Order: sequence, then structure tokens, then C-alpha cells
Amino acid sequence: MNILVTGGTGYIGSHTSLRLIEAGHRPVLLDNLCNSSATVLDRIATLTGTRPTFIQGDIRDRPLLDRVLREEKIEAVIHFAALKAVGESVEHPLAYYDNNVGGTLVLLAAMQAAGVRTLVFSSSATVYGAAQQMPLREDAPLSATSPYGHSKLMIEQMLSDMAAADPRWSFTSLRYFNPVGAHESGLIGEAPQGIPNNLMPYIAQVAVGRRAALRVFGNTYPTPDGTGVRDYIHVLDLADGHLAALDHGHGRPGLQVFNLGSGQGHSVLEVLGAFSRACGRDLPCEIHPPRPGDVASSWADPTRAQAVLGWRARRSLDQMCADTWRWQSTYPQGYDA
Ligand code: NAD
Ligand code: UDP
Repeated sequence: MNILVTGGTGYIGSHTSLRLIEAGHRPVLLDNLCNSSATVLDRIATLTGTRPTFIQGDIRDRPLLDRVLREEKIEAVIHFAALKAVGESVEHPLAYYDNNVGGTLVLLAAMQAAGVRTLVFSSSATVYGAAQQMPLREDAPLSATSPYGHSKLMIEQMLSDMAAADPRWSFTSLRYFNPVGAHESGLIGEAPQGIPNNLMPYIAQVAVGRRAALRVFGNTYPTPDGTGVRDYIHVLDLADGHLAALDHGHGRPGLQVFNLGSGQGHSVLEVLGAFSRACGRDLPCEIHPPRPGDVASSWADPTRAQAVLGWRARRSLDQMCADTWRWQSTYPQGYDA
């Protein structure tokens, strides 16, 4: 299939595009490069032998979308493009509503006009808000604690309303837990700008000497070792989840929602320990107060994805750390260093 991949040069989009090529699809990457580098296209070409079609542009540019959908004969869309920094969304809510909600609205309108009616959407476990009961099933109550989370909830609502109005739409919303890791070649991976917000890229920068020590945000949570517990999922398992969702969803009416997680929780100190093993030395950490808004624990019940899509996460925490370390140690400064 010809598949439009919005946010295709980003972290998850690039790994998914690579997998799409390997599976025989033709991804067309659209990205405004606000949080990624076009260098990733060369790396995908090295790994697959195919340089994906790339269009530098914005999902809010309706004439551009109209042209791309038509000229590239797009049959389905995987929609990654979004701003994703929770803290930044609290400071600049309008930018998040404009980019994430407004951008999706323009994309959906262009798809409707072009008659392209299959979309796989990047949602997030953040839509479960401060839920207490673990593991999280897709039918758990939804809420949001940040404008970023609200933007994901609003988009899921838009998809639900559109699916109800017109049975020709086929929507799949994938709620990712904590994507980490990199392609096993070490050629592509996550390259955050500035100080990483997320745990794994922060630890990776400690390991490579860019940061002094991991700041552990809280060690008195009601968890086995007192530090926060999350469900980490290898980015290639996540990428495979998109292929499974596309295979299953294409042409199937309605909105389908799936958790993509491993179903297993790991604490901050467990992740630090696993990364220390991967890089071969004990990494330093210091205890800091909890980060405002953090929940103690979050992990998925992924049985629906397994039962319906035949998909499950396969790679271990050790493999996530080993692959992150290979990427980080090969390219300590990311893509454009
Ligand atoms: P990323 O920032 O690496 O990728 C997003 C890409 O979208 C970037 O390349 C960016 O340049 C592009 N982009 C942003 N706004 C755009 C616009 N208006 N027009 C065109 N391109 C635009 O992030 P990622 O980690 O790959 O995340 C991909 C998706 O997954 C996002 O929707 C994110 O909210 C969601 N998600 C990510 C995580 C995570 O921890 N990484 C967790 C849950 C959900
Ligand atoms: N965390 C930490 N130090 C960091 C970044 C994160 O201790 O520098 C903790 C955080 O409090 C949470 C876990 O690591 O318990 C995962 O955080 P991340 O931001 O990666 O994911 P999220 O909280 O969005 O699920």
C-alpha cells in the first residue's frame, strides 16, 4: 500500500517507516522537521536499500495534504505528527491544540475530500490520567492531566464521532505505553533536543557522559523499591504493532482502540540497573523529589491487541537497553553531530 506517514522522520515514525518498507509497503513521509532530522532518511536507505519519499511540510497545510494524497495515490495514513512534551504543553497549551488537534482536523478533512478513509493514530497511555487500578484496560476511565493529554483525548473523540457518522471510516487508535530502544543496527534511534524529559534517553546520556547522574524523581512511591513503575516497550515492537493494526483495520468500519505495551512494569531503579549492565558500568543516580503530576505506576493490559491483532511485545528490557546503548554510543550527539 501507499501509506502517508505524518511525523515520519520522528522517533517512532522512522522505525515504523523502516518496517513498512521491509513489509513491502511504500511509505510517504511528511514532516515539518520541528523535532527530527532528515538525516534519518539516509539511514533508512542504508538499512532497507530504499530511500523513502519525503515531503517537508506541515499537516496544517491543507493544499499540501490535498496534493500529497492525490499525487502519491495514498491508501492509508499513519498519523504520528504531534508535539509531545507534557511540561511544554502546560506552558503553551494553544500551540498543542493548534498543532495536535488543529493539525489532525486538517488531515481528516483532506482525507475525507480525497476518499482516503483508513487512519492509524498515535494515542498514549496518558489518556488514562491518574488511574489507580493496574493493569490498564482499554475500557478504563479516561481523563487527562495536561493539555498534551487533552489533545490526545480530543482526537480520539473526533475519530469516534466521525466513525459514528460515516461507516466508511476505519480508525485505529493505538495507546502507547513507554516507547524506548532503537533499531538493533544502532543507525537510528531517539534523539531528543535539549535535556531529555524521559527516563531512558536521560540514562543513555548519563552513560555516554553528557549528564552527570540520573535524577530519580521520588523513591517513596507505593511500589516495590519506591520508584515509579512504567511499562516500557521496544520501539520495533511498537512499529510492528502499527503494521498489525493496519492489516487488521484497513477497510474495517469504526474506531478500534488498542493498548500497545508489554504488560509488565519496571521501576526506575530496575531500568537503571539494566542499562548499567548494557553499558558495562554502574551509572550514578541521586534521589530528587517526585515530579509533579507523575503517577506511581502505569502498565498495560495488552490482551486485546494480542487477541485481535495477533500482536504482542517480544523484546526484553535488557534488549531495549542494549539497543539504546548501541545507538547512543555510536551517535552520542544524535543525528546531526
Ligand atoms: P517525535 O517528536 O520524534 O516525532 C513526531 C514528529 O512529528 C517529529 O518528527 C516532528 O518534526 C513532526 N511534527 C510535529 N508537528 C508536525 C506538524 N504540524 N506537521 C508535520 N510534522 C510535524 O515523537 P515520537 O516519540 O516519534 O512520537 C510520535 C507520536 O507518538 C506522537 O503523536 C506522540 O504524541 C505519540 N506518543 C509518543 C510517546 C513517546 O513516549 N515517544 C508516547 C505516547 C504517544
Ligand atoms: N524519571 C526519573 N528521572 C528522569 C526521568 C524520568 O526518575 O530523569 C521517572 C519518572 O518519574 C517516571 C519514570 O521515570 O517514574 C518514567 O518517566 P518518563 O518521563 O520516561 O515516562 P512517563 O512518566 O511519561 O510515563
